[in-house]
Amino acid sequence: MGIDLQKDNPSIQGDPTNSTTKTGNVGVVTARIDDVVNWARTNSMWPMLFGLACCAIEMMGAQAANYDMSRFGMELMRASPRQSDLMIVAGRVSRKMAPVLRRLYDQMPDPKWVISMGDCASCGGVFNNYAIVQGVDEVVPVDVYVAGCPPRPEALIHGIMTLHEKVKQERFKLVG
Ligand code: SF4
Repeated sequence: MGIDLQKDNPSIQGDPTNSTTKTGNVGVVTARIDDVVNWARTNSMWPMLFGLACCAIEMMGAQAANYDMSRFGMELMRASPRQSDLMIVAGRVSRKMAPVLRRLYDQMPDPKWVISMGDCASCGGVFNNYAIVQGVDEVVPVDVYVAGCPPRPEALIHGIMTLHEKVKQERFKLVG
C-alpha cells in the first residue's frame, strides 16, 4: 500500500517550498524596480582590463583563485571600453596618459563607475612631480577611493563592495 504524503500530512499541502509537492508554483514575488535594477547592476559589473603601474599586480591578484572576484559576477575583465562599466585606475597616471584615460572613460557606455586604486591614482602618492597627475579625479569622476601602496586585494574587494552599496542607493525617475 502506497503512502500519500499530502493526505497524511495536510500541513504540507500547497506549500511551494516543500519539494514533495512539486507544484511549480512559486507564488508572487514583489520588489521595487530600483532594487531589481540595482541588484542586476551590482552583480554584473565588468571591469576594464586596464592597469597603469604596480597596483595593477594586486588587481590581477584579486581576480585570481584566492580572492575570486567572479563571485560578484566580475570574472570578465573586458579588453574594450565598449564592454566595460567599471574603470579601476590601478597605478599612477602620467600627464601623457591622462588624455588616453579620459578617452577610454568616454568610450564606456552609461552607467559607468570609477575606482581609484592606490595612493598614486588618488593623490599622486610619492610622485609629487610635474609628470604625474596629482589625483585622477582631475581627469574622470571617481566613485570610490582605495587607500594603500599598494592596496591588498582585500582592500580592492572592500572598495568594490563599497561601490555596490553606493549603486544600491541609486533611485530612478520616470521621464515622459
Ligand atoms: S600606490 Fe604604490 S603600488 Fe600603487 S602604483 Fe603607486 S607606487 Fe605603485
